[in-house]
Amino acid sequence: MSDSDANADTDVGGVDPDSTAASEHHAFWADDVADEIEARDPTDPIVIKGGVSPSGIPHLGHFNEIMRGYYVAEVLRERGHEVRQVFTSDDRDALRKVPRTLADADWNLVGLGDVDAGALGRNLGVPYTDIPDPFDDCDHDSYGEHFTALLAESAERIGVPVEMLSNTAMYEAGEFDDVVHHVLSRADRAREVLSAYQDGVDDAYVPFMAQCSECKRLTTDVRAIDLDARTVDYVCSGLEAGGQQIEGCGHEGTATFREGKLPWRFEWPAQWQVLGVDFEPFGKDHAEGSWPSGEDIAENVLEIQPPVPMTYEWFTLNGEPLSSSSGNVVTVDEVLELLEPEVLRYFFARNPKKAKDFDLSRMDQLVDEFDRFEQTYFGEVEDSTLQEFAERAYPFVVDEVRGERVRIPYTFAAVLGMTDDRELREQMARNEGHLADDTPEWAVEAALARVERARAWAERMDNEYNYRLQADLPETEFDPSVEAALDDLADFVAAGHSGEEIQGQMYELPDNYGVETGDFFNAGYRLFFDADSGPRLGEFLGELDRTFVVRRLRREE
Ligand SMILES: [Zn+2]
Ligand SMILES: [Zn+2]
Repeated sequence: MSDSDANADTDVGGVDPDSTAASEHHAFWADDVADEIEARDPTDPIVIKGGVSPSGIPHLGHFNEIMRGYYVAEVLRERGHEVRQVFTSDDRDALRKVPRTLADADWNLVGLGDVDAGALGRNLGVPYTDIPDPFDDCDHDSYGEHFTALLAESAERIGVPVEMLSNTAMYEAGEFDDVVHHVLSRADRAREVLSAYQDGVDDAYVPFMAQCSECKRLTTDVRAIDLDARTVDYVCSGLEAGGQQIEGCGHEGTATFREGKLPWRFEWPAQWQVLGVDFEPFGKDHAEGSWPSGEDIAENVLEIQPPVPMTYEWFTLNGEPLSSSSGNVVTVDEVLELLEPEVLRYFFARNPKKAKDFDLSRMDQLVDEFDRFEQTYFGEVEDSTLQEFAERAYPFVVDEVRGERVRIPYTFAAVLGMTDDRELREQMARNEGHLADDTPEWAVEAALARVERARAWAERMDNEYNYRLQADLPETEFDPSVEAALDDLADFVAAGHSGEEIQGQMYELPDNYGVETGDFFNAGYRLFFDADSGPRLGEFLGELDRTFVVRRLRREE
């Protein structure tokens, strides 16, 4: 049993919904959430939302929300509802801090030295959609659009049909006009509600930030509101962001409700209203911060019902908190080099209330866990803790349920990745019983596709699987005693012994020639991998073509 198996009983199954609504406890948490949404008798399409303010790198952490929303959407669709899953890029937010790392359009993570960092610095306080794309070799109109395009691409790669919405576009189209008008016409009420959550909300506080027509920065210095004309008069005095004051240009002007934005605590509930949001999952930071105020503002300022909430636990990456600013992030693009999309989708299907670690060095454990989940669904293994969850969740995790699908265990796939020879990989997989004579060709192809991913993992981690079988004889120089022992082993292999027997013989035989066992293995690693170490050599050689192994041991090819 791996650790993950030991934890399986707490990592699968349903969760208690956040509210007290009575709900049957299901095997899959998404059913519990769907019950709660249905209990409100929503009108179709049911709207599920997530959202993020652009940062330097669209990364796996953003999929906490997208994937949780996806499972709830899929369950509701199965129940016959029309569902719209949207994800807002909160791209009218101002750049508050220059990111240290950015992702270019080809998913290379680059430092500030590779972009015009000065241009970014000059745009502090400016909405992301008004900042030039930091990369000039792609055709996005702005920093915001660059980020959103990459995020949309990630969602597509992971196979989730999420509708990306630009907040800026929604403001510009006037979609927020009425709710801005509503909030500003009840500014006293808005201040009263907000002041319970935020310091410094005095009589001068206006719940709207105008965008300066001269320098494009946002300003909180709104001096007058004309509700009929739907405009505000502002002074470009800058704004406080990230603990520092960003200077404005001093311009005095008039902005429409489309030329600015609501402060975040109002904007979030305003999005619920404008989009008719029924469900929104969010991380712990929001649970303690903007959710309580958002709920209050929705009910007591906007007078709407807030969506069904769900708080999820963050996952850590390699044992540390995900952090765009410190660079502890991984992109979907990187992860899909190592894992099949369904394995990644599985990661987010597990209990969202349980903290997890996404440990790149232990991708083998995650894949093993997924394989077991899949086998449980097909009744190939019996696991009472996993069974109901697998039966319910598996069809949502894979693109298509196909009973003839086969998986090569990930670490074995990593061993197969030691050779570039496609046929040899397939033969080795057949020898080990991972592919059967009647495995359909599509399933063989799909199973072998894992080899490239496991190999990429071995390379990325430079772990015990990162070896390459040498197609040509490496340059070697051995003592005559070692050469004699290798010749002896060649005869032993030629006689047709199994890998296990070859491994045993590699321990027995060197002594006869006065050779240390370690030196003998080293000679073997040198011959086959041109390296000082490698996998369990005897067993590995047992998988290879016998003629090739014999000739290599005799230093002939
Ligand atoms: Zn771009
Ligand atoms: Zn200005």
